[in-house]
This record gives sequence, structure tokens and C-alpha cells, in this order.
Amino acid sequence: MAFTPEKPPIYGETLESLSTHLKARGEPAFRARQILTWLYKKRATTPAQMTDLSKPLRDWLEQTFDFAPASLVLCKKAGDVTDKLLLEMRDGSLVECVIIRAPQEGVGEEHSRKTLCISTQVGCAYGCKFCASGLAGWKRDLSAGEIVSEMMHVCRVEDAASPERAAEGLASFDNLVVMGMGEPLANYDNVLKALTILNAPWGLGFGARRITLSTSGVAPNILRLAQEPLGLRLAISLHGATDEVRSRIMPVNRKYPLAELLSAAKAFAQTHGRMLTLEYILIEDVNDTFDQARALADIARDLHAHVNLIPYNTVEGLEWKRPGSNRRERFAAILRDAGVSFTLRREKGHDIDAACGQLRLKTERERAQNNPDISSL
Ligand code: SF4
Repeated sequence: MAFTPEKPPIYGETLESLSTHLKARGEPAFRARQILTWLYKKRATTPAQMTDLSKPLRDWLEQTFDFAPASLVLCKKAGDVTDKLLLEMRDGSLVECVIIRAPQEGVGEEHSRKTLCISTQVGCAYGCKFCASGLAGWKRDLSAGEIVSEMMHVCRVEDAASPERAAEGLASFDNLVVMGMGEPLANYDNVLKALTILNAPWGLGFGARRITLSTSGVAPNILRLAQEPLGLRLAISLHGATDEVRSRIMPVNRKYPLAELLSAAKAFAQTHGRMLTLEYILIEDVNDTFDQARALADIARDLHAHVNLIPYNTVEGLEWKRPGSNRRERFAAILRDAGVSFTLRREKGHDIDAACGQLRLKTERERAQNNPDISSL
């Protein structure tokens, strides 16, 4: 289902496309860069704030582009390390993004490392059995402008905590993971455009090495991504180390089985010379057997990949459980003994991986209860 907004979001414009619009109006060549500086470096949210532009140009910007394609509905703290932001798009669609804080040793809390996790679609068609985002199915892709708008919302929310960075026009987060609601490689062009805007010197100038794109395994588009000059990091949501287990919880595996996925992942790693990450949510009696651990170790060694073990977080409406701590430790020990680089999450509050999409679902259900008309949006 496509959504055509009344006006295109300004955040979807590149230096080139905005220059073309402005040239057609007879504006000088430097004007596009001037507007983008207001938008990204000075965090202007309306043309009225762009005080060194003429009134007619500000009026034209206002009439031509949407400066608020997303609005903040709520900001919710989950424990002391995670904030969830719920944003509403122009068509009423709800989208989540998450800020995860990881304190750095020896420095104050204000210097904790912040990772932003963004969504790329409204809902998700991929139907992974453990995921809240897939529960209500796919509604639509987000446009590049909407995705950039998500990031700018977070920048503005976090600017107060990082005034030095804000004053320099830098992003107020340290890392970006494209790991929220949606399969980013199923919305390839919009996601790549949004990340290009984020990375561009006239955008937020955010380094591509600090961006990790996570896919459930759309193998052909991993190969396509390998050819992009942007140089992102790649994470594969593996969650099963054999076809039998993976197909049980991730329908995408029936279309792109492990052999095809791992061959594409290897091609990506070889092209970019970067270590891949394999995300593995540990689910009791599903993928936490020691045979799975051994098969996972073989895959990780073959790909020279780092494994991120994430104990499952309960999702309302789903039956899966987190394995006990002994089981988790023994699973991890098999990776350790095999010489695999891995991380086993122990902290509380890191509940985005399996739980992304829950806030949106809950809010949509509440809205539908209060106003049945909304459920059809
Ligand atoms: S895990 Fe990712 S790809 Fe799978 S249903 Fe959830 S959002 Fe979609």
C-alpha cells in the first residue's frame, strides 16, 4: 500500500535534487547547501527559522515541502538504558525508534555511548515468529524523507544532552543500527537514500562505519549492497544454524536458504573487508540446543563473524521463552571453545531486539479500542 503525501518531505531531498528545484526558480547555486545547513547543522524545523533566506524563498519552501513528516507521539523509558520514541507519520502510521545507552568506563553518564535503532517500514511482511513487528503484517514502506525525519527527531530530543555536538551540527548519537521495524533490504532504495543523506557532508556527516544494517536474510539484496560505495556494516539476523530450525521461525529461510544466504554474506565480507555480525536470539527449546551452538560456531568461523547472543525477551501474544542462565552459558561456552568471537547480553533493558514493535502494537490497539475508525488507517 503506497502513501503519497500532500507535499514531499524536505528530508528526502539530496543536495543535487534540491539544487535542481532551486535552479528552476533562478536561485544561485549555493542556496541548496545553505538550506541543508539550516536543516541538518542548525536543526531548523521550519523555513521561518532560515533567517538569511528571502521571504519569497521561505514561502516557497513552506508551500513545496513538508517540514514535519513525522511527529513525536511519546517517548518512553525502558529501564535506565533504553528510550523508545513513537512517531506518527502523516497518514497516521506509527513507527518506533529506540535509543540505547551504554555507559563508557571512566566517564560520566552524559558521555555514555548512544546507539539509535530506526525502523524502515510500517509493520513487516517477513513474519519472523518471535517478533512483535511482524504480528500485524506489513502496511507500507517508509520513504527516505520519513526515515531521515526519524533520525532528526532523535537528534533534537538528544541535543539537550549533547550541546557541544549539537553546536557543531553533528548527530547526537554515536552509532546507528537499522534494525527496528521492517526488513530494510525489502525497502532498498529508500533505505540507501536515507543513509546516504545521513552520511553526506551536507547532511549529518555521519560515518558509514558507524552504521549497521541488519537483515533477516534477503540474499540477492545483500549482494547488491556489497556493490554500494557507502561501506556500511552488515548484521545478519540468523537465529537458527540449520535450515530446519531457521525455517521454523523465519519464513524468509524458505525463500533464501542458509547456503544462499551465507554465500551472499561471504561475498559482502570479502568485498568490504569488514567483520560481519550474526545476531542470534536464544529461544528455549527452539534454537538453544548444543547441536545448534556447534553449527553456529561452524558458520561464524567460516564467515569470520562476530556472534551476538541475545536472550529472548517475552513478547505479548507470543509463546516463546528465554532459556535459563545455565543453558545460555553452556551455549556460549561452545562458541568460546570453538574460538568464536561472541557477546552474550546480560544487561536488563536491552529489549529492542525481540521486542521492537511492541509499543507501536500496543498504541495501535489502544487507539482502535478508543476509536474503531482508527483501526482501518
Ligand atoms: S525480525 Fe525483522 S524481518 Fe523479522 S518480522 Fe521482525 S522486523 Fe520483520
